[in-house]
Amino acid sequence: MTTTADPQTASTADALRSTYQSGRTRPLAWRRKQLEQMARMLEENEAEFLEALRIDLGKPSVEGFITDIAFVTSEIKPMIKHLTRWNKPKWVSSPLVTLPARSRLVPEPLGVVLVIAPWNYPIQLLLVPAAGAIAAGNAVVMKPSEVSAATSAALGRLVPKYMDTSAVALVEGGVPETTELLAQHFDHIFYTGNGTVGRVVMAAAVQHLTPVTLELGGKSPVIIDRSANLKVAAHRVAWGKWLNAGQTCVAPDYVLVDEKVRQPFLDELGKAITEFYGPDPHASSSYGRIVSPRHFERLTSLMQGGTAAVGGQSEPGDRYIAPTVLVDVDLEAPLMCEEIFGPLLPVIPVSSARQAIDFVAARPHPLALYVFAGDKGVVDQVLAQTTAGGVTVNGTILHLTNPHLPFGGIGESGMGGYHGESGVRLFQHLKPVLTRGTAMDPSIAYPPYTDLKAKIFRRIL
Ligand code: NAD
Repeated sequence: MTTTADPQTASTADALRSTYQSGRTRPLAWRRKQLEQMARMLEENEAEFLEALRIDLGKPSVEGFITDIAFVTSEIKPMIKHLTRWNKPKWVSSPLVTLPARSRLVPEPLGVVLVIAPWNYPIQLLLVPAAGAIAAGNAVVMKPSEVSAATSAALGRLVPKYMDTSAVALVEGGVPETTELLAQHFDHIFYTGNGTVGRVVMAAAVQHLTPVTLELGGKSPVIIDRSANLKVAAHRVAWGKWLNAGQTCVAPDYVLVDEKVRQPFLDELGKAITEFYGPDPHASSSYGRIVSPRHFERLTSLMQGGTAAVGGQSEPGDRYIAPTVLVDVDLEAPLMCEEIFGPLLPVIPVSSARQAIDFVAARPHPLALYVFAGDKGVVDQVLAQTTAGGVTVNGTILHLTNPHLPFGGIGESGMGGYHGESGVRLFQHLKPVLTRGTAMDPSIAYPPYTDLKAKIFRRIL
């Protein structure tokens, strides 16, 4: 990993721009080949990638396969299958005054795209947006996170082996390299990470009037209504929370549970944790680790915002923090003021769905919101009276796995959405083209403006 800015980085965008301007990235055959190569890279080097994810995050290999390998290939396959359709002009009707004319929207690539990724799903969050940019015909610079150093190194070694390096570049490094990249002129910047750096990215983009997509985080709430199936809710909350040891942007951040069902829900949650990870989660091969000592310290100090009803143990040696449920939560503590992004789950009693809605509505718009209720009226009320990037009802996380649902945040949790077709459209400009016929040239629109012409216009417009 590079730790100081590489002089090479300074010319990355320029080098790719000249490739882009040569037209190399435009043919669908080139795009298809690059997408196939990306999928091949993952398939042929799966073991190396899974090992890197284990080193960085203690990621169980099943989890790594599902979330960082198969997720990417399942995004790439439809991009290849629908490449022609998603890049085809769309004919639209033309108003009377323009006739004779035909109108269409022509999808065009944007140019050179920069993708900056974080460390928690370090392959998926780099390659899925990059694949969309390639499918749309762009050149791409990928910047993996330096925090997941082993995965970054694996990508740094393998991407140039499989991809056309004249149009698809990978720059490893941290703040100096990213700062250097951000000073360059890109045609779109796709950033995933925290809101503080999101602001840095947006400020840099202003210099070149570059559009940005910001995929940020926030505190994603879970509302458990008294009408919920508590056993199912506990399983689904536990799965979404302790996947990747809680280091998931859409992980349940805290639970607002109806006080009437608080204790039975806590009991079910405790049982689900034991079912998933055994009596000692430290010994479980299905449970991950915290990414770095710095993040470990932050999380153990957040724990002070409540009392551990389940878990609470930690081991700095291997960056282990137990699946932890916190009760008697101090709402003013950092635990409830910043995104947790780790395996701590505060559970807060509320008197009603109304109170839960007010709690959520008083805070910044979350990236995800989860509501568990058997009563459809409660679900409808929560949906109508809260705002969030996306929602799963009676479940967690899964809305982001449906490629027909664009994934992204709103307000503090980000701007723009991707996945599936929307992940290709994001990197296209739909160029409107109106082509007039010349066989006829009605003179009505031309001066001199007579009374008759004025009358006709009043009738047809
Ligand atoms: P991170 O520390 O890896 O940072 C993300 C990227 O920004 C890295 O590539 C890093 O090199 C770069 N960076 C860091 N500081 C910078 C600076 N000062 N200037 C320029 N670039 C800089 O990851 P993170 O921010 O800790 O990621 C966690 C956050 O990301 C959480 O808030 C999480 O919710 C969010 N997240 C969102 C999504 C989503 O899809 N919406 C997905 C994953 C994570």
